[in-house]
Amino acid sequence: MNEKKFQINLGNVCNNICKFCMNAEPLETRKFIPFSQIKKEIKEYRKKGYNVIGFLGGELTVYPKIIDLVRLATRLGYKRIDLVSNGRKYSDLTFLKELNEAGYIRFYLSIHSHEERTEDFLTSVKGSFREKIRGLNHLVSLKKKGLIREKIFINLVINKLNYKSLPRIILFYLRNFGVRDFRFNFIRPEGRAFAHFKILVPAYREVLPYVKRSVLLSEKLRLNLSVEGIPYCILRNMRNFQEYIGELKDGAGTIKEGIDRRKEFNIADLRKAELRVKPETCRECIYDLYCEGPWKDYTQINGFREFKPIRLKREKDPSGRRIKKHEKV
Ligand code: SF4
Repeated sequence: MNEKKFQINLGNVCNNICKFCMNAEPLETRKFIPFSQIKKEIKEYRKKGYNVIGFLGGELTVYPKIIDLVRLATRLGYKRIDLVSNGRKYSDLTFLKELNEAGYIRFYLSIHSHEERTEDFLTSVKGSFREKIRGLNHLVSLKKKGLIREKIFINLVINKLNYKSLPRIILFYLRNFGVRDFRFNFIRPEGRAFAHFKILVPAYREVLPYVKRSVLLSEKLRLNLSVEGIPYCILRNMRNFQEYIGELKDGAGTIKEGIDRRKEFNIADLRKAELRVKPETCRECIYDLYCEGPWKDYTQINGFREFKPIRLKREKDPSGRRIKKHEKV
């Protein structure tokens, strides 16, 4: 399928208070986007030729008419519906079955640890880990029955409390639930996450050895792993690191965002223009065109010391003449 993806924000209402959330707005003032407006936008973008849709929150499963939206998107001809959810509501099997029957869904379950204590601390909700695990069990049982045909992804935010456990987390979800698809996103220190910078945001160089081990593990076990939010020069010593760059795997989708004033943007463009920042020295780097650099707010605290341009390799050709060799992207 030639994929053209559109993501739509349903509002910022959430049932967690994650400490790494990029939104610092209090839960009480958060709002949903009216159903009539979402309906209009879903139709409009289908007419523009989009064939995959993703719903974004907040937490999309608490949207009152989420099942109706999935049904509508399916009826309009969207071939796949991507749901990135904290998965707590999947602990309700009746809800999950109805949701799953409404369309062809790819489930991304946001869970950030294999330990109850860490997960509940991160979400600020006691019992959230158990609910997510119950939800994951339900997803896996539906998949075993052939009722979910797409892959189930574990979607994780890399932070100070879990980075040393990344390989263990992979093994935990593989061995206990058969999950083979993982997405690791380096924490974006905005909003509430920025307020927790000290306790949650590791330095890239600290995280690297564990990302490397995770990559080696996924190669050995033939898993699908991608990482987001880590500049290329941090990953440069990893063999074939380009294959794991989430931003490259995702491509450039369109997003409809905003609560009161809706705006449309291309997510890759927005990251490059506003959310990421690169030092001047990046102009000398052979990956300058592709690498989006570190998260802007990360550099406010940690500066740019870690980012060193990758230059052309100088090698000799068979006749002994010095040549420049490009690394491939
Ligand atoms: S030097 Fe800059 S462009 Fe090159 S990999 Fe690092 S952050 Fe990216």
